[in-house]
Amino acid sequence: MEKWIARALEAGFDAAGPLDCSTIILRPEVREACGKNTCGRYGRSWSCPPGCGSLDECAALIRRYALGLIVQTIARLEDEFDGEGMVAAADRHAQSFRRLSRELRIDCPGMLALGTGSCSACDRCSYPDAACRNPLEASSPMEAFGIMVGDVCRANGMEYYHGKGTLTLTACFLLEPAAGVSPEP
Ligand code: SF4
Repeated sequence: MEKWIARALEAGFDAAGPLDCSTIILRPEVREACGKNTCGRYGRSWSCPPGCGSLDECAALIRRYALGLIVQTIARLEDEFDGEGMVAAADRHAQSFRRLSRELRIDCPGMLALGTGSCSACDRCSYPDAACRNPLEASSPMEAFGIMVGDVCRANGMEYYHGKGTLTLTACFLLEPAAGVSPEP
């Protein structure tokens, strides 16, 4: 775990900690919020509902893992209207996420990466016309799996809110398979 945390910090994240995968609760109401399509990605990506599978299928996938890593980008904003600061934080988070994903997949080829926002690995997602172009680079947002980010942080001793004037972006990597599950994809 120390090695993974060190890699996360080297990749550019501001905080990282262990994730006990048994603490992950999948909430139908979180998943249903995707259906409102406020982000515009519902039904437009393999990483988002309905392309990422039913909630039961997501739950079965989560149950394959025992241990993982929670990572965070923590940005200080000038004020609540600091759009540039928010975009810069999101870019930094995405860059760190891509880098760490590639590194962790070497040690844990069957890992599941759950990011912040819809998959952006391709300029245009192949959904629904063709299979995912790059499953090894693809990632679903935690919310698409019905995960309340704050719940997972609290259950694993990570701060979710870092104070007034900050923006925290959280993602996670499910790394070690549960007992009896093959470590291969
Ligand atoms: S890797 Fe490409 S095709 Fe696959 S989900 Fe991501 S954007 Fe879509």
